[in-house]
Amino acid sequence: MKALQLTRWKASPELVELDEPELGPGQVVVRIGGAGACHSDLHLLHDFDEGMLPFDPPFTLGHENAGWVHAIGEGVSWLEVGQPVAVYGPWGCGWCKRCRLGMENYCERQGEIGVFGGGLGLDGGMAPLMLVPSSRLLVPLDTLDPVDAAPLTDAGLTPYHAIKRSLHLLEPGSTAVVIGIGGLGHLGVQILRALTAARIIAVDTRDEALRLASESGADHTVTPGADAADQIRDLTRGRGADVVLDVVGSDDTLSLATAVSRPLGHVTLVGIAGGSIPFSFFSQPYEVSLATTYWGSITELMEVIALAEAGHLRPHVTRFSLDEAPAVYEKLAAGEIAGRAVVSPTGS
Ligand code: NAD
Ligand code: ZN
Ligand code: ZN
Repeated sequence: MKALQLTRWKASPELVELDEPELGPGQVVVRIGGAGACHSDLHLLHDFDEGMLPFDPPFTLGHENAGWVHAIGEGVSWLEVGQPVAVYGPWGCGWCKRCRLGMENYCERQGEIGVFGGGLGLDGGMAPLMLVPSSRLLVPLDTLDPVDAAPLTDAGLTPYHAIKRSLHLLEPGSTAVVIGIGGLGHLGVQILRALTAARIIAVDTRDEALRLASESGADHTVTPGADAADQIRDLTRGRGADVVLDVVGSDDTLSLATAVSRPLGHVTLVGIAGGSIPFSFFSQPYEVSLATTYWGSITELMEVIALAEAGHLRPHVTRFSLDEAPAVYEKLAAGEIAGRAVVSPTGS
């Protein structure tokens, strides 16, 4: 079968020919309907050298996947061939306390495991078939089309987790700021709209992204620049934002995030642009909490899928074929994708 692989660090991905995956006991092969092209893949392609991550190429890209059960390993009795499923992306040991709570994204044995999941060290979903090492990593879909559902597993799940940990701050009358309205950000806005009555302010450099933010439920849009912080402060009547999600993570966006936060607010860094901010007694309002978040839990993925099944989340998806996948990453890097680009290796 054809697959889009990262074959070496600091290189563009390549279409290669691979054998179909071999199924073992407890495992499942998924026929991929959709594999989302995440900006993290661009970091993976360009930011690392040998030895910087616990794994090395080659492996098939695609860590945001949904499809249909294709083949079921011995001992798995609760799945049917043809059943639509979403693939939970961060693969832990399944055994430690955090994994048993569904938080495989924060597995206690991550260091020993060495790979992060399919598309992140192991073969991912940018191929017609993907081996999932355990049926526990699948979440059933009901009415959702796997191509449109694929982004829920990362672009939906990651902001969902980041928002949920701050939900107690997002009471009516509060303000949430989302910086970076791409794949994750537009779903972050939809999740805030679905879960809260907070005022939502979206920040992006691209007009197209800000249009998508408004369609997704943002109350206000702001373009970054010298007066962006003042604009956001004015929109909150000088109070500041209760929660800021920085889905870019550059020096500039982090300094905007802390500048517009209120005392006791949350600034959550989701984007991996590699920026930093100084931390000192006076560098941010009192008792602002700064946190990074990585992906989300399996139970949160179930909630994200339930939100989408109920019509509250609608990923803005542009579909591409597997042959177009190398060009998709070029478009993503050039800022030419609105919402999420999804590669459909089985041509759905
Ligand atoms: P994307 O390319 O789809 O969207 C990024 C958006 O940010 C674009 O709309 C772009 O115009 C905007 N942007 C860029 N620079 C900006 C700036 N200075 N100010 C305001 N907006 C700006 O990317 P994505 O797939 O949504 O991913 C976003 C980030 O989140 C990436 O860094 C990615 O690696 C990271 N990510 C993190 C996790 C996690 O678990 N923490 C998971 C997935 C992705
Ligand atoms: Zn991702
Ligand atoms: Zn674990």
